[in-house]
Amino acid sequence: MENDDTKNRFCEDLVKHNRLRDFSKWFFYSGMLYGSSDKWWGKGGERPDAHEGLDICYYLDSKDKLIQLQGLLWIPAMYSGTVFEISDDDYLGKSIFIRHGARDSNNLILHSVYAHSVPARGLCVNQTVKQGEIIAAMADISERNLSIPAHIHVSMVFLPEDYPKDKLKWQILALTYQARLVDPFAYLDCDYTVKPYVPL
Ligand SMILES: [Zn+2]
Repeated sequence: MENDDTKNRFCEDLVKHNRLRDFSKWFFYSGMLYGSSDKWWGKGGERPDAHEGLDICYYLDSKDKLIQLQGLLWIPAMYSGTVFEISDDDYLGKSIFIRHGARDSNNLILHSVYAHSVPARGLCVNQTVKQGEIIAAMADISERNLSIPAHIHVSMVFLPEDYPKDKLKWQILALTYQARLVDPFAYLDCDYTVKPYVPL
């Protein structure tokens, strides 16, 4: 019996599936965290909107050396569930919405979202996925000449059962009373350290 209320193994699965060498713990700039209004790339400064999720881009090795995620990076599902939508509303790639079994006290349903991603071949809406199953790869944005490094963005959001799919856009999700975004760290079992971003 799966339990979507407990913390999941997503961070551990990322290390395992991608064979992250000499992994010690995750590393975040404060601007990568949920709700932050800071940029963690380029010259820094403020984001246009508070961050709707968590950006995953770096880890520390056993010697405390900062390692950036790059190349082909597999993204596993946080919990078992069904693919609710694969949307295009993302300037860095697609967003995959997975519907899980957990509900909040208002009967809203937990969804995990994986942005800036390239869906696994054949992944389609209504498909069932298992916890830890590869659902996507991190989008390779190296050719786009952006100041932001390639990274995995994950969000957790509670939605009503009949939430319209045309409203699965970040700007709407952040503002509508129908959706309740939550801090992914409430669900991720993850050892990490946080530092402020200092532009070079
Ligand atoms: Zn993000």
